[in-house]
Amino acid sequence: MSENTTEKKRILIVDDEPDILNLTTKFLELGNYETLTSSNGKEAMKIIEQKYDQIDLVLLDIMMPGRSGYSVLEEIKTTDKYKDITVVLFTVKSFNEDIQKGKRLGADYYITKPFSGKELLKKINEILNN
Ligand SMILES: [Mg+2]
Repeated sequence: MSENTTEKKRILIVDDEPDILNLTTKFLELGNYETLTSSNGKEAMKIIEQKYDQIDLVLLDIMMPGRSGYSVLEEIKTTDKYKDITVVLFTVKSFNEDIQKGKRLGADYYITKPFSGKELLKKINEILNN
């Protein structure tokens, strides 16, 4: 069988900053990933409920109005059918406590803001090809 486009890995990007969503989506699509986006935690959780078996990775901002990334992370990692989804947290460089808390809640990897699209794609490629 030949490969087809349905084999693309799918990434859910969750961030309340439109510029981050746009940049991230653009680079991941250039890298041949399929993307889903959400600007808030509540909606992100709804997408996960519906599509958890089709999502390979969630890129998750921590600070968002309403439901935080921590809360979404905690629900993913404490729910049997979601917990195998790889979660990559967006963190701010100087906020070491973000990383500590994310680690406790089960985050798999971190990407530090600010980042370039190239760096992001390189890191995601490393994670998903492991
Ligand atoms: Mg934010």
